[in-house]
Amino acid sequence: ALDETTNQEEPKDKLVSGLLSANFNEESCLSRYQSVSYRKTSPYKPSPYLVSRLRSYENLHKRCGPHTEAYDKALEQLNSGVKIGDSECNYVVWISFSGLGNRILTLASAFLYALLTNRVLLADPGNDLGTLLCEPFPQTSWLLPLDFPLKGKFESFDQKFTHCHGNMLSTKRISAERTLPSFLYLHLAHDYNEHDKLFFCDDEQSVLHKVPWLIMKTNNYFVPSLFLMPSFENELKKLFPEKEAVFHHLGRYLFHPTNDVWGLITRYYEAYLAKADEKIGIQIRTFEPGHGPFDYVMDQIQSCFLQEKLLPEIKMQESVKIHSKNPISKAVLMTSLSAGYYEKVRDMYWRYPTATGEVIGVYQPSHETFQQSENKMHNKKALAEMYLLSLSDKLITSSWSTFGYVAQGLGGLTPWIMYKPENQTATDPACGRAMSMEPCFHAPPFYDCKAKRGIDTGRVVPHVRHCEDMSWGLKLV
Ligand code: GDP
Repeated sequence: ALDETTNQEEPKDKLVSGLLSANFNEESCLSRYQSVSYRKTSPYKPSPYLVSRLRSYENLHKRCGPHTEAYDKALEQLNSGVKIGDSECNYVVWISFSGLGNRILTLASAFLYALLTNRVLLADPGNDLGTLLCEPFPQTSWLLPLDFPLKGKFESFDQKFTHCHGNMLSTKRISAERTLPSFLYLHLAHDYNEHDKLFFCDDEQSVLHKVPWLIMKTNNYFVPSLFLMPSFENELKKLFPEKEAVFHHLGRYLFHPTNDVWGLITRYYEAYLAKADEKIGIQIRTFEPGHGPFDYVMDQIQSCFLQEKLLPEIKMQESVKIHSKNPISKAVLMTSLSAGYYEKVRDMYWRYPTATGEVIGVYQPSHETFQQSENKMHNKKALAEMYLLSLSDKLITSSWSTFGYVAQGLGGLTPWIMYKPENQTATDPACGRAMSMEPCFHAPPFYDCKAKRGIDTGRVVPHVRHCEDMSWGLKLV
């Protein structure tokens, strides 16, 4: 990229302040080192400690990754069923589950857990993980090999499974004194029960620590609850002195779109967004019954961007504005499963001039009508759109949506969240600025492990609070 002021090749920080390893082949994943030229420099810098822990994780992964000697040894242990002696490498296997936004948040959560417990993260590729995201660790793979012994059984893993950690606890079949199994299934999905939730207690962690294979199914960003565990406190403090930037750093470290998806992103960006003076992202996701577009959602979108002065008012009495030579241009990137909202906003700024004289272009890459998480092209578009939203200067998101959380976190953007409509009525105010750009943990435990009773975990420490968009959720601030 050329720096216009000096007209010289600008030395860009393509390793993102040391967050990224330099040991990758550039062509195999263009987004990894090119993304800096599409983003503003982040005000959040990874701590030197995080950088050094990432480099040592990469070495561990290379030593223990698929088809290494250590991996084969660990498989022998897995196949034997019981834990014998100490294993050189221990693993967290992440099961592919739920929509793409959820999957991205849970991969980040599982990776942080792996980092904290010195485990190696292996990701079940599901239908298409490898076609969406590049390998994040150099000279190895994070994809769980297709011949992994338990792979065919993932579908049947549930809370009744004999190796389910919560189930074993409820029937008192697991403790530090007993022989431990070589693997456990961790059920951390939204419907998990009180026994599954003991995962978030230090006493259980010290037992889990001895189990070489942990197989995890979750659709939740569970990072906030890790910050409430005394055993991880010191390490997390050193890794993330800025607590609101946890997903921001982990996301920029882990999630690099494949060349195919990068093409979708960069072509769209160059064609519609690059030249605008300001880019506004609007992410619309409704969890209302029935198919949209809904008038009350449209009202809410418009009230939000006008009330927060993110886009200008229109002059309905006028048909033309005094011509200015270089009007300020704003590009609005909208994403939604429906085209209806985009059409209305676009028509509004086409039919009438703005009160400020600004020129507003409104764009939406796709309208896929409904969620199709098994469809590869559908997921590529979804990833491209999350990423494009993350390149905005300002972002409006919808409540409850992990799709929006991914965009805000990657972008380093504290969003304006549109509150969830109630009884088919938009809220007043329509939206509000979030406390931080961190995702919300939608199903946190409310349990005090020491006192063994319920507590409000949103009131224990100042940096873990209840979310703006979900009163029972938890987020880092
Ligand atoms: P959440 O349900 O909003 O938390 O987000 P998820 O990403 O987990 O699941 C929603 C899925 O629906 C996405 O992964 C996409 O497959 C699809 N989807 C929802 N909104 C959009 C959108 O604006 N654009 C596209 N392309 N897909 C969307």
